[in-house]
Amino acid sequence: MLCDDVEPLAPGPSAMRGAALRLAQFLSTYSADARQEATAPTVEDGPLAVKASRIEIVTTGSIMPLQCPRQHAGRVRAVRADGPRATLECEHGHVAEFWQLEPARLRLAVAQATAKRPSLQGTHQVAKLLIVSPDAPRHSDPHRINRFLQAAGTPLVGREDIVEQLGRLGQ
Ligand SMILES: [Zn+2]
Repeated sequence: MLCDDVEPLAPGPSAMRGAALRLAQFLSTYSADARQEATAPTVEDGPLAVKASRIEIVTTGSIMPLQCPRQHAGRVRAVRADGPRATLECEHGHVAEFWQLEPARLRLAVAQATAKRPSLQGTHQVAKLLIVSPDAPRHSDPHRINRFLQAAGTPLVGREDIVEQLGRLGQ
């Protein structure tokens, strides 16, 4: 038995109609950018390739240069995300996957370095790429989670006490 059979609707504006209007109003302000932020980065068909003079893996307590997983630990200045795969290329041309290099984290790092979306495609060049290690949550900001980057963002200006202590240490 339906409710309406027992108790007919009271005259006046329907509560459901009001709710639908409020919802429509809310959704109209929900921009494409907000949608992008609310969902995991979409992996486009096109690969993302990035060259950088410094590519570093950031954890809460360390900033390590990304290196070739082979014995010689060559410098890495190029990385690539292609679908579910992420690869690095060392200075000697070795292309390899590496456990600390995940496509989503790489895309998020590039998004931060370029102020573009994680779904970015094509070949890009940045000065420095800070990739959050799989030890930390995927959306972490490297400048917030890493203690050295945190400290670098806190200038000593106005902290004469610290400057003085550092001076005494040097004597
Ligand atoms: Zn190599």
